[in-house]
Order: sequence, then structure tokens, then C-alpha cells
Amino acid sequence: MQMSDNVIGTNTPTDSEAEVARVMQICNACRYCEGFCAVFPAMTRRIEFGKADAHYLANLCHNCGSCLHACQYAPPHEFAVNVPQAMARLRGKTYADYAWPSCMGACYRNAWGTLALALLASLLLFALMPAASVFQPVDPPGNFFAFFPHGTLVWLFGTIFAFAAVALGVGVSRFWQEVSPGTPSAPAASEAMRNVLTLKYLDGGHGEGCNNEDDAFSLWRRNFHHLTFYGFLLCFAATLVAAVYHYLLGIHAPYALTSVPVLLGTAGGIGLMVGPAGLLWCNLRRHPLHGDPAQHTLDRGFMLLLLLTSASGLALLAWRDSTAMGVLLVTHLGAVMAFFLTLPYGKFAHGIYRSAALLKWAIEKRQTSGLKLGGD
Ligand code: SF4
Ligand code: SF4
Repeated sequence: MQMSDNVIGTNTPTDSEAEVARVMQICNACRYCEGFCAVFPAMTRRIEFGKADAHYLANLCHNCGSCLHACQYAPPHEFAVNVPQAMARLRGKTYADYAWPSCMGACYRNAWGTLALALLASLLLFALMPAASVFQPVDPPGNFFAFFPHGTLVWLFGTIFAFAAVALGVGVSRFWQEVSPGTPSAPAASEAMRNVLTLKYLDGGHGEGCNNEDDAFSLWRRNFHHLTFYGFLLCFAATLVAAVYHYLLGIHAPYALTSVPVLLGTAGGIGLMVGPAGLLWCNLRRHPLHGDPAQHTLDRGFMLLLLLTSASGLALLAWRDSTAMGVLLVTHLGAVMAFFLTLPYGKFAHGIYRSAALLKWAIEKRQTSGLKLGGD
């Protein structure tokens, strides 16, 4: 018996879990795609695909599309094997199921509503908070803290970021406990880290890249992911260096254009402009059989929020000495706050769960297979 995907917390497979199990049974007999990514070798270590196995494999899949375009059993074949779509549907469901607090899983099912609410509330918060009018020039020019005291911003963003980290931590520990392959060894952890940082499984298994709109290979999705990911890390590094300047060195903002925080933030902001714009472009051209159409709002909303965050940040830097600075600051802080609020309940979570799945795989592949078949 299968159950609707709205039913959680039961041992009976839902529709999306059953579909992953079905396609994996066919793939396990075929094994043509064995070298494409980590999903297929992980699959061959199993004969049956229970809920936990299906969740693990779904999060291990990078949705590169290669196995769909290579498959002789893909639609319109009667077997209708579509691995990326089956994995994507289940993956989206797992984000909602692992969410903490559990009631917040509903955010994944209403991505636009969640994003709009977070953004509106954040913009209103900063629009209503300033003691000084956002249309007044400040002294010295470019001094953000003339509008919002430094301590208030640190407290606000620090609290929300800490909550997001805890919520994501609880979610990923729920995922980890479902299929716990044991403690990671140093080589396993290092391999997983390398696979995360290089996005190895977006290379299609042959290095030429994944499929996007057709059966041609392209590295663009991987490159745009890298720009987004490393852009985010550079912005994070800029914030950390600014904190060192402020608290340890006693050097306070506004910082010169040639200072380390501004250079890091500018490079990160450019990465966070080009990366999400490119990913959005790829997403709009994506083959309709890839992925889960129901998650388009989750994907595109996240990219648009990243674009708003980086564009407003760069605009703020460019016009920080003008009277537009107050309005730009409210827009940028509102976008960053909305990003922080939706970290555990939006597309950002996919990077955390996929990294955990890659670590599971790096541990599991070093263990003797429990199947005890001829080749083991
Ligand atoms: S996706 Fe198709 S070709 Fe690839 S292993 Fe599965 S059944 Fe075989
Ligand atoms: S879509 Fe790509 S990453 Fe996912 S199972 Fe197929 S080949 Fe592997």
C-alpha cells in the first residue's frame, strides 16, 4: 500500500518514496549509469529501498540529469524511468519532514508565501526602526551606524543566525540518524569535503558537465554554483574580518574601498550576482523532465532573494556617500534578514543535506558491503 506524500511519520512508503524504490529496482538490474555519480554505487549496496535508503539516495542525487538522457527506459518507454525527477520529488519532501520545529516544514510547501512574508516583515522592521530619517545625509558619509546602532544589528542578526544554525543542525541530525553509517574517518571526511567543495557530481561522471535543456553537456551549472557558493563564503569572510576590525583592532566602519572587508565583500557580492543570475537562467531553460516542477518557486525564489541581497549590497557600497544610502541600507538589511530567516526553510538547506549525504557515502563506500555477493 502506498500513501499520499502528505502523510509523514509512518513506515508505509509515500508515493515519492515508492517511486524512488521502483526506479532503483530497475536501475539495480540495469546498472548502465554506474559511473555517473555516487547514487548508483550506493544503490548497488542495496537490494531493497526502504524509506531511509530512499531519503539518503534522494539527497545524494545532484539532479545533473545525465542518467535521464542516457536511459533507454526513460519516458516514453513504458517503464518511465526518470531518476532525477523521482529523486527531486522525494528530496523536496525530506526537507519538509526534517524541518525543525516540525510545523515549519509547511514553509517548503508554500515557498513564495514564506519568502514574501520574510522579506516584507524584514523590510518593515528596518523601515520602522531607524531613529534618523533614511532620507537625511549622515555624518560621516557612509556611516551605516548613524541609522542603526552596531550593537542592535549584531544582536538581531546574531540571534537569527544562531537560530537558523540550530534549526539546520537538528534537521540534518534527523537525516543522519535515519541511515547512520558510523563515525567518519579522516579520509572519508576529507573526500566528502573535496566532493562538496568541487561539486564533483555536477560533472556528469565524465568531466564534461551535466545536462540542462537537452542532451548536450555543460559545466555552466557547476560554475554558477561555484560562484554562488564561494561568493557567499567571501561575504561571510568579509563580515568576520569586519568583526575583528571592530572588536579587536578598534577600527570602525565605514571602511575604505581598498580595505580587506570591502574587497572581500565586493568580490563575494559579484559572485552572488553572477552565480544566482546564471542559475536562474539555467533553471528557466531546464528540460521539463528534470527535477520537480512543484519546486520551481522554491528554487527561483531563493535565487531572486540572493540577487536582491547582492544587488542591494553592491548598490549600497556604490552610493553610500549619497542621500540614497538610507533607503539602500534598509533594502539590503531587509534582504539579508529575509535570507537568514529562510535559511532553514528554503533552498539553502539542500547544500547542508547533500553535504551530509556525501559524507555518508564517503563512510559507507569504505565499509564491506552487507550484501555478501560474489564480488564483495
Ligand atoms: S537510469 Fe536507466 S540506463 Fe541508467 S541505470 Fe537506471 S535504468 Fe539503467
Ligand atoms: S541525476 Fe545525476 S546525480 Fe542524480 S542520479 Fe542521475 S546521474 Fe546521479
